[in-house]
Amino acid sequence: MANENMNPGSPELKVKGRRLVVLGGGESGVGAAILGKKLGMDVFLSDMGRISPKYVEELAARGIPFEQEGHTESLILNADEVVKSPGIPPTAPLIRKLVEQQTPVISEIEFGGRHTSAKMVCVTGSNGKTTTTMLIYHILREAGLNVGLAGNVGKSLAWQVAESNHDVYVVELSSFQLENMYRFRANIAVLLNITPDHLDRYGFEMQNYINAKFRILQNQTPADAFIFWEDDPVITAQLHSFATEAKLYPFAEHRHEDSAAWVDNDGKVIFNTPEEDFEIPRSELSLHGLHNLFNSMAAGLSACLLDIKKDSLRHALANFEGVEHRLEPAGEIDGVRWINDSKATNVNSCWYALESMPDSKSTILILGGKDKGNDYSEILPLVEKKVKVIVAMGLHNEKIVDFFNGHVDAVLSTSSLQEAVDTCRMMAEKGDTVLLSPCCASFDLFKSYEDRGRQFKEAVRKLAD
Ligand code: ADP
Repeated sequence: MANENMNPGSPELKVKGRRLVVLGGGESGVGAAILGKKLGMDVFLSDMGRISPKYVEELAARGIPFEQEGHTESLILNADEVVKSPGIPPTAPLIRKLVEQQTPVISEIEFGGRHTSAKMVCVTGSNGKTTTTMLIYHILREAGLNVGLAGNVGKSLAWQVAESNHDVYVVELSSFQLENMYRFRANIAVLLNITPDHLDRYGFEMQNYINAKFRILQNQTPADAFIFWEDDPVITAQLHSFATEAKLYPFAEHRHEDSAAWVDNDGKVIFNTPEEDFEIPRSELSLHGLHNLFNSMAAGLSACLLDIKKDSLRHALANFEGVEHRLEPAGEIDGVRWINDSKATNVNSCWYALESMPDSKSTILILGGKDKGNDYSEILPLVEKKVKVIVAMGLHNEKIVDFFNGHVDAVLSTSSLQEAVDTCRMMAEKGDTVLLSPCCASFDLFKSYEDRGRQFKEAVRKLAD
């Protein structure tokens, strides 16, 4: 079958013997190297840091040459094409040199997408990507499709293209991944929202970040679909400047003239597309909160476009278990609920977490970590309404203390997770909720947001002992 995503005339598809250099030896890099090898390319992988032993084994087992803890420029600058891990910034000196000498630098998704004819359902946005990606994957799997999960979650796309044979992929795309995508075409593109995030990586220019997100539309044809939240001011203001031929499927809480999904006056979520009509009471959705309504709408629309049976879709939207570290219940101790929202690494996702908290002033909010240029004024009204105490936890607490002082009963500074949890325990009364929704990245005290969330859950579990 002809590959819709491939361009058979393009020179890069004549791959045999071409030199592919992969920068970064994580899941995506190793996947790209494995696919390159399978295609008969002359592959070399290089990582500045240490490659984890499991990936070293995978590379060695396939006879793929690699180096770690440093880049040998002469072995890299002779590449015909380079696959770059999304973690390496475009400003890294080696990347600059490659670009200067006009060596194509692409992402692993771009590379994997070239070599499969599977349908691509791609999800991006500032917040909600993983939840929506996992929900779509769950729906498609429940419906019996041969589907792979790729991108930021799951296994690398290139690896699956090399060694599995899926008919559909659900791909979570960060702005970093989108940056190095050129010919890739999403059959279904989902853009959930755009709010400031990672601005440090974009020269503190919001427009650069917006442009990266809108790359999800590139190469879409009239046969493709673009699903987006039509109440997002950034998306609606910018959509016209990114001409797309794709069919539009906007969703909103309250119906607009062109909405493809909305909630009606009886509390039913209505999906209304030329392909499929479907409805489900909002109360039956397994994911709660306004943000998750949007995620469920985006996932439901994707399913409508993929011909999923209504019963199966209804069942899957109702029985999805949610994703770890996203508003995840972490325990209830002496009438106090503890919630792990460690994945809230920016202000907007914390806004949605607070939105789903009770309306009384009964939340104790743990904030802090590596600040990415946060403006906390966005959450101030919700904090004033719902939060009684803020516990700052991180190496740079001053900004939080200065900003919120006087707006809540107390802002307390702590310097470790244990100290923060103990402080919350001391301040919380029966009926309160302790919410870890830090607005910040975790790299000051933790390895990752997962590490932060797990340590939090463990500390809460110990409180119950
Ligand atoms: P991402 O993968 O984009 O980081 P996640 O699905 O991991 O998004 O969710 C991260 C956090 O963002 C969640 O903990 C939640 O608080 C918030 N969130 C989830 N979905 C949305 C949405 N549609 N809009 C705004 N915030 C959201």
